[in-house]
Amino acid sequence: MLELTAQQVRMQQRAADKTAALELLCEALEADGLVGPGYLVGLQAREAQGSTYLGQGIAIPHGTPQTRDLVQRTGVRLLHFPDGVDWGDGQRVHLAIGIAARSDEHLNLLQLLTRALGEGETGSSLRAAQSPEQLLQALRGGQQSLALDAQLVGLELPAEDFDELLLLAARRLKKAGCAEPGFAAGLQAGEPLPLGHGLWWLSGGEQVSRPGLAFVTPQQALQYAGQPLRGLFCLADRGAAARATLERLCDLLVNGRADELARAASVRAVLEALGGELPVDWPSLRVPLANPHGLHARPSQVLMQMARDFDGEIRLRIADSEGAPVSIRSLSKLLSLGARRGQVLEFFAEPSIAEVALPALRAAVEEGLGEEVLPLPVDAVVPPPRAAAPSAEARVVQAPPSGVPLKAVPAAPGIACGPLHLQIAQRFDFPLRGESPAVEAQRLAQAKAAIADEIDALVQRSDAKAVREIFVTHQALLDDPELGSEVEARLNRGDSAEAAWQQVIEAAASQQESLGDSLLAERAADLRDLGRRVLARLCGVQTAAEPDEPYILVMEEVGPSDVARLDTRRVAGILTVRGGATSHSAIIARALGIPALVGAGESLLALRPGTPVLMDGEHGHFIVAPDAQALEQALQQRDARRQRQALAEARRHEPAVTRDGQALEVCANIGDSAGVAPAVALGAEGIGLLRTEFVFLDSPQAPDLAAQEAEYRRVLDGLDGRPLVARTLDVGGDKPLPYWPIPHESNPYLGVRGIRLTLQRPQMLETQLRALLQAAAGRPLRIMFPMVGLVEEWRQARDMALALHAEYGGHGDLQLGIMIEVPSAALLAPLLAAEVDFFSVGTNDLTQYTLAIDRGHPSLSAQADGLHPAVLRLIEMTVRAAHAHGKWVGVCGELAADALALPVLLGLGVDELSVSPRSVPLVKQGVRELSMAQARDLAGDVLGLASAAEVRARVAQVLGENR
Ligand code: PEP
Ligand code: MG
Repeated sequence: MLELTAQQVRMQQRAADKTAALELLCEALEADGLVGPGYLVGLQAREAQGSTYLGQGIAIPHGTPQTRDLVQRTGVRLLHFPDGVDWGDGQRVHLAIGIAARSDEHLNLLQLLTRALGEGETGSSLRAAQSPEQLLQALRGGQQSLALDAQLVGLELPAEDFDELLLLAARRLKKAGCAEPGFAAGLQAGEPLPLGHGLWWLSGGEQVSRPGLAFVTPQQALQYAGQPLRGLFCLADRGAAARATLERLCDLLVNGRADELARAASVRAVLEALGGELPVDWPSLRVPLANPHGLHARPSQVLMQMARDFDGEIRLRIADSEGAPVSIRSLSKLLSLGARRGQVLEFFAEPSIAEVALPALRAAVEEGLGEEVLPLPVDAVVPPPRAAAPSAEARVVQAPPSGVPLKAVPAAPGIACGPLHLQIAQRFDFPLRGESPAVEAQRLAQAKAAIADEIDALVQRSDAKAVREIFVTHQALLDDPELGSEVEARLNRGDSAEAAWQQVIEAAASQQESLGDSLLAERAADLRDLGRRVLARLCGVQTAAEPDEPYILVMEEVGPSDVARLDTRRVAGILTVRGGATSHSAIIARALGIPALVGAGESLLALRPGTPVLMDGEHGHFIVAPDAQALEQALQQRDARRQRQALAEARRHEPAVTRDGQALEVCANIGDSAGVAPAVALGAEGIGLLRTEFVFLDSPQAPDLAAQEAEYRRVLDGLDGRPLVARTLDVGGDKPLPYWPIPHESNPYLGVRGIRLTLQRPQMLETQLRALLQAAAGRPLRIMFPMVGLVEEWRQARDMALALHAEYGGHGDLQLGIMIEVPSAALLAPLLAAEVDFFSVGTNDLTQYTLAIDRGHPSLSAQADGLHPAVLRLIEMTVRAAHAHGKWVGVCGELAADALALPVLLGLGVDELSVSPRSVPLVKQGVRELSMAQARDLAGDVLGLASAAEVRARVAQVLGENR
């Protein structure tokens, strides 16, 4: 369920026009990992189909069905444009809400926005907002219209006294979605107001979900407070939504028409008198909605247009729902229905137009209301919504089956097993009003003292400084005098301890988050964490005790700070319901060495705490309640992997030589000079890829010769005579430099990038080459050019490098080569090999271009496997050509660190592998365990296979036989 929070808001944005605004919005969605590259095309295409302007200065840009696969995570980002952006048709947008959603998850958001749309002042409040909170307040705070329809009126109800009548009224309000549990209790505490003529008025503002007015009359004559009781109005409202209705009621009473209500014989008469929503008994039509994203803005606009063609009223509701039908002339009302694919729409048309309008509506809905729709499966009709949406907790989820391997996304390697410990957001139910300030203050003090003791114990028992620091901070927050006095003030106003504590903590946390500082945002998470612990104590909600033995932590989603605060001795592994492998939490889990799997699905939450779980963070599977054999096998594997890792680390400085004496050079990939020392310490025999673009990307302007030279010199100094393979600047297209504007390209991966770009800016390339040559000063330097696809590109770059080298005297240990990343370079390798000193295969890009799969594609990139025989054949051609000319070949893409790729690359005759520094010891160890003869046979075999999966299976089989 989408919700609006302050973190989603970016204030004070400026955009010259709609195109620029969409670009900004897309950047925000992409930067926060909600969508992948390319979503902008979807946003633009959607606007081209029809403006997403909603009203009140709000637009809701979103992608098209074609770009749905680019959505990585459902969510929204809000950009505030105080100066406004022209959205076409004379509309000015002050708030653009970018939506990333694959299906209809955003409908509830639209429902929420309809409140803002109905409010006259919302547009100007949005424009003037100074903070995310003010902006959200303007959106949420929009006054809702008062619900008053047939379901809220009950005549001649069987009630014995005032209280019973009141409960019947409250029940109607609850059923209509106006009130929540607890509303009736608040109402009972109120003071009823006699209106005269036996009519009474009572209102309640707590536990109200939307304003509503119920009117009920008793079957039999009743008395209350010594006066007749003939009718009771119950208002659920916190604001002034009922003002107009109240005025109308006063008029009725003043004009002596009270009896029309007190003696009303029909619901319609009451509604007519009060100006409520009349029930429609017009001809109707039921038709299922098949639009993939439900009745969102665009199809709703089509319905609105249709309404204009008829000279009469048409209303719509979700069939069998309890809500009153809404006019299809109102976009906001249509959106407020929140109708989803599969639900049945029920149209009502005034009798004079029904005969023509209803068939036309049926045809329009069946044709998709301007969208392409797939027919609904026979059993796909979704039941109508209930008055109150079921909570997440109420949904029934089946636990995953026991004893079988289940898939999840690998996030941090390692095998772990242990009892499951669920850590999920809890719901707390508590009264809003307290017994007395003194009693509530004492309850709170006791709860805080208990939590303080728990925190003390945590501080005592944790060795890790970072963990201790987090809990010391919690202790300080718990004792914070400012928070304490705010809570006290609320208690004195009558709040319960729970309500006062929760509201103060939440307000403080939101305020810290809104300051846009990441440290303060973390502090907000700490505050909420602490807030929950105290609240749980106050509500008597037990947090499941942590198992004594190391456990598998199951969470819905895990934030970086959640991981950072884990006690690594107690948490054996992490398993999450949602999340992706590239998230920061996954990165931290890897750094802490905790095996982790993410995105395992909601069924996890149905598992009983303590259930044993076995997980493999490397291969991406887990088993619930594994049998003894699976457990034994996994533990053996884990021990073997640990032993192998230890051996690899112990021998990291030894060369990597196969069992039959073939040496392979193992180097490291780094991005800047800071990476050199750790790489050397981990056994790297040189740097096989220096991605020099980091020097450029980290700088606010193009780094000059001196700055570059200093950086490259630091790298060479750190290498202490070991060779450096430096790649010239590889930016452009998808990796633009802020100070180097590149015209927009519809397909940047096939655009001006790598060597194509630097050859267009020879000055830039020359400066970089000079810096490298000057920094090397005779030390072993290999320069390579990225993304070479044409022989001319290589020749131009080479000529420039050779001319500069000659200028410096032509001395020293310099080699020039190219990366093999584009299939054309591999195919031309026989020709290029005669001219270059070496090749380095960039398998990341080579795979992308060979298989035509975007390497970052959210759903396809898993298929972009460098062990695909097509890629391997290109590598084989490259090596054969190079060796025929006595040149060497390295591999510096991710494939080089893949354990299953190692024997194949070795067998194909690759001379050097360059991997991330952490992988160096294991890659070297892998080489030592292989024999060249066997690797050659294997490589020959797999070149003839049909798919990457077949290659992987074949290699795994051979390695298995080997060990
Ligand atoms: C590659 O493409 O394999 C490579 C090493 O280059 P990068 O990942 O930097 O594009
Ligand atoms: Mg590349």
